[in-house]
Amino acid sequence: MLRFDVHSPVEEIRLPLYTEKNVRVFVKRDDLIHPYISGNKWRKLKYTLNQAIQQDRTLLVTFGGAWSNHLLATACAGAKFGFKTFAFVRGEEVDNPVLKLCKLFGMQLKFTDRQRYKEKETLFEEYFAKDSNAYFIDEGGYGPHGMMGCSEVIDELNEYYEHIFCACGTGTTAAGLLHGINKNRLTSIVHAVPVLKGGSFIGEEIAKLLPNGQENLQLHTAYHCGGYAKTTPSLISFVKDFTQQTGVLLEPTYTGKLVFALHDLLAKDQIPSGSKILILHTGGLTGLLGMLDRF
Ligand SMILES: *Cc1c(COP(=O)(O)O)cnc(C)c1O
Repeated sequence: MLRFDVHSPVEEIRLPLYTEKNVRVFVKRDDLIHPYISGNKWRKLKYTLNQAIQQDRTLLVTFGGAWSNHLLATACAGAKFGFKTFAFVRGEEVDNPVLKLCKLFGMQLKFTDRQRYKEKETLFEEYFAKDSNAYFIDEGGYGPHGMMGCSEVIDELNEYYEHIFCACGTGTTAAGLLHGINKNRLTSIVHAVPVLKGGSFIGEEIAKLLPNGQENLQLHTAYHCGGYAKTTPSLISFVKDFTQQTGVLLEPTYTGKLVFALHDLLAKDQIPSGSKILILHTGGLTGLLGMLDRF
């Protein structure tokens, strides 16, 4: 087993809206796990990398967009735990601070046109079929090992929360929370907020990972603000206000939309008075580097 144990802190956030609606809101600070192997990305990699070690693989091969938190996490974790790393990056060649950091951690990048990028297994076969050191990691760390790591968020909780909120890209984190809830025989509701347009597909992705046990899932698909990494002026000012009022930094791609959703649901009285609510801060703050001009 890799020695990198985490147990992120939980802190209470106090805002007038929460007092008004008579709820208590807590944040599990997975953003504090590591600056680059951030939040749910470490949780998703943990069992994946352990399996790679068990199979004597020394090269991690993965996939992501040009601002991918998963690529950066894999690059840094690879350097930390002694793997080489290689990534197929979606789209034409570009440079940005996240990709620069990936390279700094030693990751080799291969820009891949969007059509070919869709066939991930085919790409892997084409480049690495003869390389017995290579280990395939799906985009965003999606998969059963990722889900298992994310379920440990629930194992770490010392208190019961009726409502747990998380942002969704692939749905692995939400599946992990549901798995953890079932495993621990809890009845918390997981409120999953897809950050992509047409987010109801997340329900199917979660079902593939967790065929039973989605009774506690609620998907909120109306908070994508136009699509992945898209923002609106009200989202940007929300992120600004929340950060200034709490000292907890959000970014607009994932956690900003997540907390925006929570506040909207509270304002519409969709969350019962008296509830204890947990927000999972999944990190990803390097995503801000590409968005500072929007503030
Ligand atoms: C990658 C990421 C997510 C998405 O997690 P999934 O498990 O793919 O749904 C959420 N929040 C942040 C900050 C991320 O970087």
